[in-house]
Amino acid sequence: MIRVWQGDITTLKVDAIVNAANETLLGGGGVDGAIHRAAGPGLLAECRRIGGCPTGEARITGGHDLPARHVIHTVGPVWRGGDADEDALLASAYRNSLQLARDHGLTSIAFPAISTGVYGFPPDRAARIAVTTIAEHGDDLDVTLVAYDDKAAAILADALP
Ligand code: ADP
Repeated sequence: MIRVWQGDITTLKVDAIVNAANETLLGGGGVDGAIHRAAGPGLLAECRRIGGCPTGEARITGGHDLPARHVIHTVGPVWRGGDADEDALLASAYRNSLQLARDHGLTSIAFPAISTGVYGFPPDRAARIAVTTIAEHGDDLDVTLVAYDDKAAAILADALP
């Protein structure tokens, strides 16, 4: 099941929220910064022990001070014009996050619009990849796509089947 919800992902009480992290897993701006601020320093300490994550893969931690039980950190691709495997890497970030949730027995998961902020991925193209990948690989899970603003919400709603 896929739904679109507009707001701040750090407020969601789901089994896991997904973080659009960078390869260091040591925090950054955007949704990554918001998640680390809301989760508290324990999250960064746990991320340091993991030691990074390649683009397209995912790692799981506890939720610390968040209402969500876990954070799944995934690294989306930086948009380089479309010829650098960006579509496949973004699909892989979604797919690996869904698989990690399933491997841990989780049933509800919320995604931000991975790569569509500072990483520059065109949001409509990213939304189509998100919806297609979740339909193929996350049908058994309760999936929320989080839009941070009105424009993102409209783009995600358009991409739904
Ligand atoms: P990336 O580096 O993967 O592009 P960003 O964090 O820059 O990641 O942006 C990803 C998306 O997350 C953007 O659409 C941005 O508007 C959105 N975003 C930023 N803060 C939040 C938040 N607190 N909750 C949900 N989405 C957020």
